[in-house]
Amino acid sequence: MKKKPAEGICYLVGAGPGDPGLLTLRGCECLRRADVVIYDYLSNPELLRFAPESAERIYAGKIAGQHAIHQEETNGMLIKFTRAGKCVVRLKGGDPFLFGRGGEEAVALAAAGLRFEVVPGVTSAIGGLAYAGIPVTHRTSNSMLTIFTGHEGPGKDTSSIDYKAIASAPGTKVMLMGLKNLATVTRELTCAGMSESTPAALVSNASMGRQQTIVGTLGTLAELAKANESGTPAMAIFGEVVNLRGSLNWFENRPLFGRRIAVTRSRTQVSGLLEALRELGADAYELPTIRIEPPREKTAFVEALADVRSYDWIVFTSPNGVEAFFNAFYTAYEDARELGGARLAVIGGGTAKKVREYRFGIDLIPKEFVAESLLKEFKKLNVEHLRILLPRAAGARELLASELENLGAIVDDVPVYETVPERVDVAGGMRRFREEGADMISFTSGSTAINFMKLGLPMPEGIKTASIGPVTSGELRKLGLPVDLEAPQHDIPSLVEAIRRFFTISN
Ligand code: SAH
Repeated sequence: MKKKPAEGICYLVGAGPGDPGLLTLRGCECLRRADVVIYDYLSNPELLRFAPESAERIYAGKIAGQHAIHQEETNGMLIKFTRAGKCVVRLKGGDPFLFGRGGEEAVALAAAGLRFEVVPGVTSAIGGLAYAGIPVTHRTSNSMLTIFTGHEGPGKDTSSIDYKAIASAPGTKVMLMGLKNLATVTRELTCAGMSESTPAALVSNASMGRQQTIVGTLGTLAELAKANESGTPAMAIFGEVVNLRGSLNWFENRPLFGRRIAVTRSRTQVSGLLEALRELGADAYELPTIRIEPPREKTAFVEALADVRSYDWIVFTSPNGVEAFFNAFYTAYEDARELGGARLAVIGGGTAKKVREYRFGIDLIPKEFVAESLLKEFKKLNVEHLRILLPRAAGARELLASELENLGAIVDDVPVYETVPERVDVAGGMRRFREEGADMISFTSGSTAINFMKLGLPMPEGIKTASIGPVTSGELRKLGLPVDLEAPQHDIPSLVEAIRRFFTISN
């Protein structure tokens, strides 16, 4: 049930350090009911997909060195929308109350007499470092934690940071912000009495696929950071705990860590590919190329549904087809038995899974997940005069329908959904592809390939392509793209395994 407060409210939500899985349940709940989301540069834009499509999304981030929007403007927006009765989510990187100016925003809302709530988040200073295999405290060595900012606003006096106090505090020190001041900060800490040999690390993009960790000492870290051209956001940590990374570096040791893979996928399609690649440590991001929409021509679908009990077989060829079919079926009928006695055939493990989600069993699934293989099975059965429904994508291959007709079946080839090019870059995938490129790009259907080409994005040099099966590969070749890898079983788990092998062997 969607409950909306009668008066406006602003939730200051911690987005965590980057891994979308580190958003809290409460944070997700707030996003789901948002009318407006105001997000900053450090909050992962992928989280925006939890907000309703209709929610207004406003970027209020700072880009290093320049202010996209001034703090006063952000405060002003929070107040304006909340006062107008909206449910506002202010999404901030890490925890909103640690160096995030979340305190200032809360004060502004309180001063305006408006309702607000704070949803704490996983801070980069603790959770982000855990992804680099560094616990911020450790019983035998570090039992105290100092978090400080290395950021010196222009014109600010350097003495605003009390290096003596930081250096003399026992335990771990974590520096947020101010990567460009790292040389000054490490020098000051050394002058203030910390040993140059104190273990130190710089972690950038913590908890994301592109996380990078540089390990050195207080004396060497600044040089190393410069030589490695460390990206932002980055934080530095000083203390014996850094040594634990040697045995605790779980995140960066995963098989696909550091591999940047663009996954072309429809935004509304439940994928599993992105998650599976990330599970293996890949820096996988989604390139939304297609969107699933109801078919423009609906008559055939409506007629097929009205007459659904008359079919002997229903053949599903994609998870989208299953979803579109059953969504409409359950809109038309209350009772699952209205499907009648039709037997169900599917192509592909993902399609089968979707059918089972609707609590229907499967009568036929060919070993190979292509239409030709299904036809072979149908040839063994006698389908003469049998009525077969093919609920499919508009513009799908004709082969299956015509071959079934050649076997004497009466076929209704019915478009139940349509794939159209995606134009909205909500999670920033298109921007990433353009700016950072990728080591590999995956295609899970012919239409993802066709629609990817329609986006007109430049192909990064040396990029490899991964295809889910021969039909998709054929489409890729037609479009002039090479096929570096093809899933032997033409489904997502097989594609994931092929990608893992590709990188572990070619490495
Ligand atoms: N409220 C945030 C911190 C905001 S200050 C939190 O709790 O994490 C911004 C600084 O946090 C950055 O300059 C950087 O030092 C650090 N930071 C935030 N996210 C980070 C990440 N994913 N990896 C490394 N550092 C990060």
